[in-house]
Amino acid sequence: MTDSFSNLSLAPTLARAVAEMGYESMTPIQAQAIPVVLTGQDVMGAAQTGTGKTAAFSLPLLQRLLKHENPSTSPARHPVRALVLLPTRELADQVAQQIKLYAKYTQLRSTVVFGGMDMKPQTLELKRGVEVLVATPGRLLDHIEAKNAVLNQVEYVVLDEADRMLDIGFLPDLQRILSFLPKQRTTLLFSATFSPEIRRLAGSYLQNPVTIEVARPNETASTVEQRFYAAQDDDKRRVIRKVLADRGIKQAFIFVNSKLGCGRLARSLEREGLKTAALHGDKSQDERLKALEAFKQGEVDLLVCTDVAARGLDIKDVPAVFNFDVPYNAEDYVHRIGRTGRAGASGLAVTLVSPSDTRLVADIEKLIKKKLEVETLQLETAPAAGPAPEKWGERAEDRPRARAFEGRRREHDPRDALDTPNERRGGFRPAPINRDPFFQKPYEAPTSDTPPSWEPIGPKTVRSSISANIKPKRKVAALFKSVE
Ligand code: AMP
Repeated sequence: MTDSFSNLSLAPTLARAVAEMGYESMTPIQAQAIPVVLTGQDVMGAAQTGTGKTAAFSLPLLQRLLKHENPSTSPARHPVRALVLLPTRELADQVAQQIKLYAKYTQLRSTVVFGGMDMKPQTLELKRGVEVLVATPGRLLDHIEAKNAVLNQVEYVVLDEADRMLDIGFLPDLQRILSFLPKQRTTLLFSATFSPEIRRLAGSYLQNPVTIEVARPNETASTVEQRFYAAQDDDKRRVIRKVLADRGIKQAFIFVNSKLGCGRLARSLEREGLKTAALHGDKSQDERLKALEAFKQGEVDLLVCTDVAARGLDIKDVPAVFNFDVPYNAEDYVHRIGRTGRAGASGLAVTLVSPSDTRLVADIEKLIKKKLEVETLQLETAPAAGPAPEKWGERAEDRPRARAFEGRRREHDPRDALDTPNERRGGFRPAPINRDPFFQKPYEAPTSDTPPSWEPIGPKTVRSSISANIKPKRKVAALFKSVE
């Protein structure tokens, strides 16, 4: 087998850690990137979260750092040799945790620093000495300025989720950080897309990089059935109910464009008897975790979310994704529907199109290079009884105009996930990007046999059980194999 980890001649300490993770074989990005990184070449990788890219860069990087491992307690013997930069604290935390697992049988030390947390414990860790430092740019600069982090012995730098870092406005911070690093080093850049800005960044900081692309940017998986239904705002919930019932779908994500809209839709669906939770940037960390857990346990059938959740969601094989609002950015469409039909499994993505959305749909068409047909779904039933539908006028809430209203930070504000230069300087903060460890796990259908709340109680009508589009859950490793 060409994609087996045993072909890599990893050091026994690393191989043991990989074996413990239960990985059967390398994912495509790993099979392509690990051998290249092992040779010390620069890499420009197009790979999204969920492809196994963390191991793709961290395993070879750790292997190459093994020559420095030592049991000394002296901080001087543990200078930073590898720097991994990520846009958000949650991503940084997640990557740092993975690196710790891969390095657990080595004597290499690693730590993570990000904003929104007390600097002191981070400082102590840094002063102890670490070979691998995972960081968000803003907080790293604070540590550099405080002379807690010295980067003159860095041999490897990883710019992970580089497109997001640029989107957030981290370019000046990145440029500053890179100016502290030795010129002689290996630079690895990973990005979901290779935009002209990313190419410019790579042109400035990478030397003859090997380009690795596992999933072409802006490509929607062919395993996702994409449907576009014309619907007036007031009919959208009925369309969702109908699709769910017709297809026998048990759980779904519903994406909206604003935090306000998110809460409202969740409440409306809840009032109509559907088990729903909302996930958006104004929810506290605790509330978010509860919502996710409830979805995971099957106590909640519908998770209504904003793009806060969309970008990093790596929960695989959610049976269906609804775009209650057509996203403002066509790229968000690709990310949203990527929550279903992942890695070879089938899924359904339904976008509800109101008359004013024509231009947004045209943008999606252009991006995914596919002719999209907006269909009309016949709604036989009367509008759902219950409270009057809420208005959907405030969609710009997550966008810059409304950000001015966001006010001061609150305690446990999930937007703390964002460690932006603006934030550090006290300015407004762009919409947050969020990763929850929950989403790093494959979707698992809840074990309870309770039918979803939209299923009628009483004599069962014959229907084709589960949708033909939904295949049973498969193991992560198996899923990866079927990716191009
Ligand atoms: P990443 O894209 O790095 O965020 O990884 C996504 C998930 O895939 C993580 O939970 C990893 O533990 C898992 N993973 C990474 N490599 C493999 C592999 N070769 N086989 C199975 N799972 C993997």
